[in-house]
Amino acid sequence: VARKRFGQHFLTDRVMIESIIDAIAPEAGDAMVEIGPGLGAMTLPLVARIQPLTVIELDRDLAARLRKRGDLEVIESDVLKVDFAAIAAAKGQKLRVVGNLPYNISTPILFHLLGFVDHVVDHHFMLQKEVVDRMAAAPGNKDYGRLSVMLQWRYQIESVLDVPPECFDPPPRVDSAIVRMIPLAEPPALDAGLLEQMVAAAFSQRRKLLRHSLGVWLAQRGFQGHFDLQRRAEEVPVHEYVALAQQLQK
Ligand code: SAM
Repeated sequence: VARKRFGQHFLTDRVMIESIIDAIAPEAGDAMVEIGPGLGAMTLPLVARIQPLTVIELDRDLAARLRKRGDLEVIESDVLKVDFAAIAAAKGQKLRVVGNLPYNISTPILFHLLGFVDHVVDHHFMLQKEVVDRMAAAPGNKDYGRLSVMLQWRYQIESVLDVPPECFDPPPRVDSAIVRMIPLAEPPALDAGLLEQMVAAAFSQRRKLLRHSLGVWLAQRGFQGHFDLQRRAEEVPVHEYVALAQQLQK
């Protein structure tokens, strides 16, 4: 029986599971970690190709079932407490992290993982489609916002597959999608906390021109440089936010 508080919706559609595994394209030598394996819908096809496979499961009963198989490295823990740098160090290589995530904590998981971006080859995650749309949105798009900027400054992000509710048991109330995230090869040197504050200020009044929101924030910091504030937050590309934060850092 699925536990609601753990956001448990188990993938059951065979064809869809195969498409997801194809999108991940697991290779024998990969150092792979699966978050929230549940009953193993994705775990079984993955462990058939990759060993050892590490899985992180919070639900004690599910973790026990998975451990019994004998062919998995089971970490029974809240993923938000897992040190992915330590796993990468133990495996001696960068990680490929995958998972059909619990939707109630998807944003905290994404921000937790952002802290380990240097230890990662890529991510493939099942998330609410609405969240994937925000993660991958380009400037000018209605979905472009804080989440887009805060992830796109470190990752290349792409929605790779839509997954309807009928593919799960029990079916979630929302549409889902698989997102692919690949860390940028040459990330800008930047204080993420400063960017976060700046972007929060910029998008605090989405419908107004930036001089009413970001402009005030910049003035409070004694910013002297030039930045076009006669635009709305959603019109400014990620690299411009990054450059502005870099100027402020100096
Ligand atoms: N991967 C399975 C599948 O596709 O059928 C299950 C996906 S289900 C949406 C989410 C899984 O994450 C559940 O197995 C749940 O117990 C687990 N989970 C929930 N919260 C978690 C957390 N904080 N840390 C680790 N796993 C968690």
